[in-house]
Amino acid sequence: MDGQLYAAARDVTDRVERERLEREQEAEHLELAKLESIGTLAGGIAHDFNNFLAGILGNISLAKMHGGLDGSVYGLLEEAERASLRAKELAGQLLTFSQGGAPVKKWVALGPLVEGAATFAVRGSAVRVAVETSEDLGVVEVDEGQIAQVVHNLVKNAGEAMPAGGTVHVSVRRTIVEEGDARSLDPGSHVELVIRDSGVGIAKDHLARVFEPYFTTKQTGSGLGLATTHSIVKRHGGVITVESEPGVGTTVSVLLPAPRQVPPPAQTDQTVSSGLRGHGRILVMDDEAAIRTLVRRALESWGFSVVATAHGAEAIERYQEARASEQPFAAVILDLTIPGGMGGEETIARLREIDPGVKALVSSGYATDPIMAEYRSHGFAGVVVKPYAMGEMRRALSDLGLMDEPGSSM
Ligand code: ADP
Ligand code: MG
Repeated sequence: MDGQLYAAARDVTDRVERERLEREQEAEHLELAKLESIGTLAGGIAHDFNNFLAGILGNISLAKMHGGLDGSVYGLLEEAERASLRAKELAGQLLTFSQGGAPVKKWVALGPLVEGAATFAVRGSAVRVAVETSEDLGVVEVDEGQIAQVVHNLVKNAGEAMPAGGTVHVSVRRTIVEEGDARSLDPGSHVELVIRDSGVGIAKDHLARVFEPYFTTKQTGSGLGLATTHSIVKRHGGVITVESEPGVGTTVSVLLPAPRQVPPPAQTDQTVSSGLRGHGRILVMDDEAAIRTLVRRALESWGFSVVATAHGAEAIERYQEARASEQPFAAVILDLTIPGGMGGEETIARLREIDPGVKALVSSGYATDPIMAEYRSHGFAGVVVKPYAMGEMRRALSDLGLMDEPGSSM
């Protein structure tokens, strides 16, 4: 063939291909934007919904405890409870969907994560899971909660496709994506998660719709499982594919980029060596439940055990109890201002009367409060400013001498 003509033909092919790709990307972009706005709406509703449900479920269980209930009344309450629990699951699903925003990535061991989530998804059903993980899986940088959600959703679907029971096969392994891969993935190391069932399968004309939010063929389905899964996988830079043959079964594959890398030790903390583990009990006082939960999670993940209180009187009571027991507190973290209750300043004064050696950190959202600057003269050993940078909290605790290399203490 004439060289010039050939080159021109190739140019045209390239352009057509490029335009096709651009169109695809644009469509994908729109799809993501659509999912995102639905997510925001759904998340807002789900949040309020969850609070109402807590009230409903709490009262149903109280009613069930009532003595002398007619058997049929009890049955009705149980049914109401079951329905509420389903609603709660749906609200949870919506919340994850809406939080399917940017993944908060950490280095996690994928094998145990997949195994745990898969087993959990079929608990209490006639379906079994067989999980196969390869030894060289190692750690990957993903959002732990989101990937657990992906596994949960896919295994749950697989189980629901086999109403008479059966085995869901789950495998996860490392794989290399070659240059020029058709699935528009970057070349390099990936992990591949495959979930296979021998269930009812998916009809051909449904196959294209399964990722649509609210598409469901189930009586009590939400149609959000695969939509959520899809957005999570996308946001991890991966792809998800479904193959199915009606009456034979379904295989879902998820490919996630997973460079073979040694997790940088600085990643978890910039100030204190991440190998350090906390030991002992810590008493936390904060009037905000959300803060108590947050601090508890962080401290527990570093190895401490935590008792949380909402105000000074309660904190003093717990401190005295613990002091009289075998397990006194290694330190206390006190919020400076407690609306309508005893705050940090008065609490530390009282605690020092009880135990002159008490180790205390003061915390406040008001960094400019004079007590924060003169914390030592008030009897505190350190300060942490809210909202907490957890690295700072860690450093403050390690400065108190409460963190060690694992194995070097006790
Ligand atoms: P839901 O499970 O609430 O229906 P999903 O988004 O998880 O919502 O799934 C959407 C639909 O995709 C299901 O209703 C079902 O028709 C189909 N589907 C998904 N996974 C499977 C599977 N493993 N086998 C058969 N059908 C499936
Ligand atoms: Mg589902």
